[in-house]
Amino acid sequence: MEKVAIVGASLAGLAAARALRRQSFAGEIIVIGAEHHAPYDRPPLSKDFLTGGCSVADLALVDDDEDLGVRWRLGTTATRLDPAGRGVHLDTGDEIRVDGVVIATGARARKLGGAGVHTLRTLDDAVALRDDLRRAGRVVVIGAGFIGAEVASSARSLGLDVTVVEALPAPLAGPLGTEMGEVCARLHGDHGVRLLTGTAVSRLIGSDRVEGVELADGTLLPADVVVAGIGAVPNVEWLDGSGLTIAGGVVTDPAGATGLPGVVATGDCAVFAGSALRHEHWTHALEHPATAVATLLGRTAAPARAPYFWSDQYGVRLQFAGHREPGDQVRIVEGDPEQRSFLALYERDGRPVAVLGMDQPRLFTRWRRQLSAVPQEA
Ligand SMILES: Cc1cc2nc3c(=O)[nH]c(=O)nc-3n(C[C@H](O)[C@H](O)[C@H](O)COP(=O)(O)OP(=O)(O)OC[C@H]3O[C@@H](n4cnc5c(N)ncnc54)[C@H](O)[C@@H]3O)c2cc1C
Repeated sequence: MEKVAIVGASLAGLAAARALRRQSFAGEIIVIGAEHHAPYDRPPLSKDFLTGGCSVADLALVDDDEDLGVRWRLGTTATRLDPAGRGVHLDTGDEIRVDGVVIATGARARKLGGAGVHTLRTLDDAVALRDDLRRAGRVVVIGAGFIGAEVASSARSLGLDVTVVEALPAPLAGPLGTEMGEVCARLHGDHGVRLLTGTAVSRLIGSDRVEGVELADGTLLPADVVVAGIGAVPNVEWLDGSGLTIAGGVVTDPAGATGLPGVVATGDCAVFAGSALRHEHWTHALEHPATAVATLLGRTAAPARAPYFWSDQYGVRLQFAGHREPGDQVRIVEGDPEQRSFLALYERDGRPVAVLGMDQPRLFTRWRRQLSAVPQEA
């Protein structure tokens, strides 16, 4: 293999370039990225960046003195992958002929439109939201998932009046289950944020610019800024006609193999065969590319670790690792949810399958390690 294209110039794409060099690939690497920015870190966008606690320079993922010997094609979108996987077509009209392709095109925010209505996925989104929050008094956040909760927390710490509207009976019920989701719900109330659960939005109100959110029961929530945290969609449309299996993402095996020789996929755009969920988490996008690259180079890939993510909300750090399923029993093994500091173990047939920590980083790390010792499903 002499020439590899990495499509997507964010965390997973950069991690793939680094892994190729670490795994002694000496050939040509071209990294194609739709955004104009060099790779940057997304987690601070909903946290410190919004509150002014960090700058654009602090987000950089590539060190100044790091030379990976790659050719960057930033501000360039891949529009098609030919069915043999040997040609990547670009929006410039160019076609790059390669021996290997790493697909790392991530995901984009599901959008609601209109002036004053924001989503948060990119640095440009975050700059626009930060500027609008400076002029706002009342903010309505639609969706109490991780992004929604973190934006609500950041907006509140800027002194804004914040309401969060969530369609489900509890926030984060998908990843954490209802019981633990309800503990997270209380975090909003603790900090003076109104959380309306089991509540549907019927429409946004306003002519030139958003002025409010109308709920299904007719209630009007006035708003200067609306933020929609309603999930993400994988960036996979450019792969239509490539022969790859697409089902909620690029379908791969746990080692990133797509079934098309010389093509692997990793990060937020990929979904493991047989799994309904993509691993849309920073640590997966950082670590899994090394596995995918080993697969691309025909080497034995290290097995992936159990999924892990964190979220910072209202000064509290949530950490979760493992595979939760509906019906798992939740047991508090340390601390007290009422104190917003505890460790909960998820058990299935008496066996630990996942762990959640709220402001318990040390204990969480110990349990996460213990969990890794237990054989996990993909
Ligand atoms: C605001 C925010 C906060 C987050 N906070 C946390 C957190 O606290 N904890 C946690 O675990 N995770 C967090 N995450 C998730 C984490 O950032 C993602 O899992 C990670 O960024 C995924 O990396 P990726 O490289 O796979 O995809 P992405 O970061 O989505 O990058 C994909 C890149 O590919 C580009 N691209 C797309 N299509 C094309 C194309 N056709 N051609 C060329 N380029 C293309 C995109 O423009 C993008 O730059 C957060 C995410 C966001 C948005």
